[in-house]
Amino acid sequence: MKTQVADLTFELSIPYSSIEKRVTEIATHISNDYSGRVPVMVGILSGSFLFLADLVKQIEIPIEVTFAKLASYYGGTSTTRKIRDDFDLTIDIKGRDIILVEDIVDTGNTIHYLIEKLKVREPGSVTVCTLLLKPKALERAVPELKYTGFELPNDFVVGYGLDYKELGRNLKGIFKKVG
Ligand code: 5GP
Repeated sequence: MKTQVADLTFELSIPYSSIEKRVTEIATHISNDYSGRVPVMVGILSGSFLFLADLVKQIEIPIEVTFAKLASYYGGTSTTRKIRDDFDLTIDIKGRDIILVEDIVDTGNTIHYLIEKLKVREPGSVTVCTLLLKPKALERAVPELKYTGFELPNDFVVGYGLDYKELGRNLKGIFKKVG
């Protein structure tokens, strides 16, 4: 199935049915791993909003949900290596178990930047949960990365929260750029 987003053509890579199944599995892992604790799930906006929403609905332990907003792509199809800090966490995370929820980890630079920033505030623990990971694009190890939905080759993707020029976030599955 092909779809047009702005000036680019994309084809279906991961259907929503597969995403739903994997999100339920990850939610079960988180519920088991954090049993007896109350983790703070931090959605990294904007790309993670649908993943976070579907994920938290399946988690069966008490959790808090909050957001931070970073941007690193600026509307293109490859990283600019610049990270823009749009807004910060508003809660005190000292001693808390933090789960950062990302749409995609590409070079790893954005999540590394955020982890370093949060560590200064002395959280009890920090782990990362990402829907998508491009292992071949990773430029640094991310030891905090504990939950990954799907691994992808280095294709540019949109859908299920991820955008191209702010469009395509509402596509139900993950679509990769054609050509
Ligand atoms: P990193 O800092 O790991 O290189 O990039 C992380 C951020 O870049 C993600 O949160 C996302 O905003 C953006 N990004 C990386 N790869 C893609 C992609 O294939 N599609 C889209 N839409 N954004 C991407």
